[in-house]
Amino acid sequence: MIEEEVGDIIQVMPISLANKIAAGEVVGRPASVVKELVENALDAGADEIEIYLIDAGSSLIQVTDNGCGMTARDAKLCFTRHATSKIRSAEDLDNIHTLGFRGEALASIAAVSQLELLTGQDFSQPSFSLRLDGGDVIEEGRDAPRKGTSIAVRNLFYNVPARRNFLKRPQTELKHTLDMVEVLALSHPNVGFKVQHDKNVLVDVLLDGKTNADGDRWKALKDRVIALTSTPAKTKFIEVDESTSYLSVKGLLGFPEQAKRTRGQQYLFVNGRSVKQRYIEHAVHSAYEYLLPEGSFPFFILFLDIDTRHVDVNVHPTKSEVKFDDERGVYGMLRAVVRRALGMALQTPDSAQATPLRGINLGFDLPSSANGPKTATYSPTYSSEPRAQWGSEATRELLKGAVTVASQHTEMKAGRAGGIGEEGLLWQLHDTYILTQIRSGLVVIDQQAAHERILYEQAAACLQEGFGLSQQLLFPRKLELSAADHVLLEALIPDLNRLGFDLDLVGAKSVTIKGVPADIATGDEGGVLDEIIDQYRLFERIEQLSGRENLARSIAKRGAVKAGNKMSPKEMRALIDQLFECQLPYAGPDGRPTMITVSGEELRERFDKR
Ligand code: ADP
Ligand code: MG
Repeated sequence: MIEEEVGDIIQVMPISLANKIAAGEVVGRPASVVKELVENALDAGADEIEIYLIDAGSSLIQVTDNGCGMTARDAKLCFTRHATSKIRSAEDLDNIHTLGFRGEALASIAAVSQLELLTGQDFSQPSFSLRLDGGDVIEEGRDAPRKGTSIAVRNLFYNVPARRNFLKRPQTELKHTLDMVEVLALSHPNVGFKVQHDKNVLVDVLLDGKTNADGDRWKALKDRVIALTSTPAKTKFIEVDESTSYLSVKGLLGFPEQAKRTRGQQYLFVNGRSVKQRYIEHAVHSAYEYLLPEGSFPFFILFLDIDTRHVDVNVHPTKSEVKFDDERGVYGMLRAVVRRALGMALQTPDSAQATPLRGINLGFDLPSSANGPKTATYSPTYSSEPRAQWGSEATRELLKGAVTVASQHTEMKAGRAGGIGEEGLLWQLHDTYILTQIRSGLVVIDQQAAHERILYEQAAACLQEGFGLSQQLLFPRKLELSAADHVLLEALIPDLNRLGFDLDLVGAKSVTIKGVPADIATGDEGGVLDEIIDQYRLFERIEQLSGRENLARSIAKRGAVKAGNKMSPKEMRALIDQLFECQLPYAGPDGRPTMITVSGEELRERFDKR
């Protein structure tokens, strides 16, 4: 104890005052009280949560759950600041699997309201009840047995008039609360939610019979999206489900034609937590790229799951921001995943008009993944159910053209013998695109994306099956290596040899290139290895690609003919032939389309011919 002297002015605040002040950080309005109480219910394992509001929450906010409940001792303790069952030591901070962990919410809420708690762990003994006023316990007792917890928060901010006056009109507060519940209910499709305001039931997505637990795992989520957002009941979505050892991404994407003028319908969850992260939204948005009209925003609901060691959720008291240890990596991977999902969805036949393509593996299972590269690669698992149907009123003509129906595909495949690709019927536009016709319309092929697709699949096949054709260099080339490159190259050499490289590592600092894969289109055959290594590192960093997937992608990227290169009719013809030999001719390895088709009907429409 330090002796007080004359002139000392500093005092430590009483706890109740400190809690009142701190409450401002955690609970600013009824919506944030609802958020904290519902998150506690979810952390307690509840699968039914009811929210009851009076006067938009300013008179009463009551949240009732069927979770694990608390013991009497815990119930008294939970209103103490920093009291939590969710972490015990600093190490636990790196391993958070609950929505809460700071132990601040109940202390803060209790400090600025009159609160009642009722909690029980099972039906074998009486439940425990507690009444608090401004954070002070004024009554405790026993009640009928129950399993779960009910917390009633009355007269929020009754003792902080400044804050109470800050509340907006009831409609505004209610809207905030409903938005909050929407997000919580979307992120927990297997938990039932009900919201009642005064006499009106505003949300009722309680589960009936828990049917959707293991049936179609997407169904619960789709039902939720349709029930809670302004999405029409028949809306189709693009499913996303990919994971690497670092990150998994699951969720639903809207078709570009459903894009809205506002950013509203975008939901992002990291390890189950709703977060606002502009650059992540940007990653998704940029994957749609030119598929969207200027100034419109796609619908998405995405769940990112990442090892808790790689993400810090403790950057803000409301935890609405998180920090990844590799933000660029997450950005790149997310963008690639979304691109790929879009590419897949857009190349799929309209299920109403066509039977599934034969001979095309929609599973996107590359030959290379059969053997299983040692490190994780993207291995999307798409359901075999017909992909979302392409609506007829596509907002973008261009986009409509990207949808290739089975009949066109058959025509194009057959067309290799005649029709499509006949010399004289091919044009190169701006040395970048190849134009040709099919019976049903016009096809525009992006030469670079197409060649990337071809090289990618060839590389993948070589990596799995054996030896790629090699072209020997007349003058073997010596390449100086950094120590890091040397290590990388050493690891990659067996696979590089399979691809058709003929390499000798000389000492610890250099490599001799004696041969490179045939088919590589670069003026500088000797320099291509250097470029591939650079590309490999780039993909490693930006898209978290590794092993053979990365190698195949790098070769494709570096070896492909570029936009701006003139191609002879013969070369164009060969390119088209090879493209249609591919398993997935319609998208480049990064998911971007390789071609756009414009149907005759569409041309007629655009020229206004009827
Ligand atoms: P935190 O959620 O960060 O741990 P809170 O102040 O929100 O902090 O809650 C404190 C503790 O009270 C929780 O850690 C939990 O043990 C307990 N608790 C709160 N709400 C519930 C509930 N609905 N069901 C069971 N336990 C609860
Ligand atoms: Mg909490």
